[in-house]
Amino acid sequence: MPTFAAITEEIRLATAALGEFGAGLINPTVRLGVTGLSGAGKTVFITALVHQLLHGGRLPVFEALTSGRIARARLEPQPDDAVPRFDYEAHLHALTTERRWPESTSRTSELRLVIDYQSARRARNRTLTLDIVDYPGEWLLDLPLLTTRYAQWSADTLRLSRTGPRAMLAAPWHRYLAALDAAAPEDEQSAREAARLFTDYLRACRDDRFAMRLLPPGRFLMPGDLSGSPALTFAPLEVSGDQAPAGSLWAMMERRYEAYKDAVVRPFYREHFARLDRQIVLVDALAAFNAGPDAVKDLEAALAAILAAFRTGRATLVSTLFRPRIDRILFAATKADHLHHANHDRLERFLARMTERAVGEAKFSGAEVDVIALAAVRATREATVARGRESLPAIIGTPFEGQTVGRDVFDGGTEVASFPGDLPEDPAALLARDGFKGLTAQANDTDFRFLRFRPPLAEPGTSGAPTLPHIRLDRALQFLIGDRLA
Ligand code: GDP
Repeated sequence: MPTFAAITEEIRLATAALGEFGAGLINPTVRLGVTGLSGAGKTVFITALVHQLLHGGRLPVFEALTSGRIARARLEPQPDDAVPRFDYEAHLHALTTERRWPESTSRTSELRLVIDYQSARRARNRTLTLDIVDYPGEWLLDLPLLTTRYAQWSADTLRLSRTGPRAMLAAPWHRYLAALDAAAPEDEQSAREAARLFTDYLRACRDDRFAMRLLPPGRFLMPGDLSGSPALTFAPLEVSGDQAPAGSLWAMMERRYEAYKDAVVRPFYREHFARLDRQIVLVDALAAFNAGPDAVKDLEAALAAILAAFRTGRATLVSTLFRPRIDRILFAATKADHLHHANHDRLERFLARMTERAVGEAKFSGAEVDVIALAAVRATREATVARGRESLPAIIGTPFEGQTVGRDVFDGGTEVASFPGDLPEDPAALLARDGFKGLTAQANDTDFRFLRFRPPLAEPGTSGAPTLPHIRLDRALQFLIGDRLA
């Protein structure tokens, strides 16, 4: 039964949505959600996209730009006063001046870009407002909590933590849990210790070597302002039955679990998610390939959960009645510059395969969906390197200082050729647990998997602004906003 406060809140949001809808008729606006799990490439993507639009970068497939119909793009103050602004300038400075990757996304932020253009048919001057909303994909993985009670969530989370590499990583937490009595009187120290060990387990799963991605609740690894609050100081318990004894540790954990939903999950859906018109989901598939079949399976499960959020998230809120549904979703495999171009289509096929069922459902509900492999900022170039009698496709980039591969230690200034290997022709080979084939090493036994390259040297372009090379960013833009600039 919704409370009076919840109904009042719905009315407020519905009124705001109606106002936005009206404003959108006069001044067309697209709210573009940019999401993806931690490290997928959201910050780099938004920075590159905004930079290319502001300075008219090389975007051959982005028709409105190549045909000369975009007169000007500029940043304007964003519509939501209580949301942090996406710090485009600082991120660009990091990329181009310091040649380092910017700080990653750890919270929701927003940026407004206004594009003056000429319509294609009547050559009329028009304006499109693009509100870009950056938010962690982890927030979407929290949606199932809304319909799951604490006892069920505990059981599901514990079951998952006993599978694959998770079991080993969860061992210290499981040991502590075994000595804990859920029916014992509530106790702050026990709750804190359980939450700490549970969070350590989640963090260990996220490590590059395991690259697990299905790790709710999302705020445990990105706590922001809520760090240390009771709403983040809970963890699953071994419970039997479904009624917590009054005053027990179980009752305390349950109360906090519910507080997490009220303070974190519901507001995100209402304030941000329900208002999106278009969506790009960035996926770091390479990180999963590198970690092995368990990570690929985990990523697949996380993507299925994200897609389920698109399906159900909007249907549950009254305020969404006043806005059209998300009508375009783009899935993008990022960091394609880590592969030779012969592999870009294979990467795309893999992602298409991984999202195929969910994509079918999205299409059924009227949304247009596409899949792409891209690099928002291309840090490498390609070359062919002779090895004995063979000539091998290689990629050349500048690894960060202090990284090592084999016996080589890099200085942060010298370019090296690396041999990333090939993805299998058939995406099924990447999804098979038995006979899993990730990137096949070609040249020798050298392991280039975890090599990280510095961003490219950004040369000044014709406008004087630094240019940022990319792979297929123009195709992404054409799909996401091309029709709105027609
Ligand atoms: P976020 O957590 O989704 O915001 O991820 P970021 O945008 O911060 O990206 C995480 C890391 O991935 C960066 O620090 C880079 O190392 C790498 N990365 C992201 N995009 C690219 C890209 O286009 N090319 C390359 N080579 N690396 C990228």
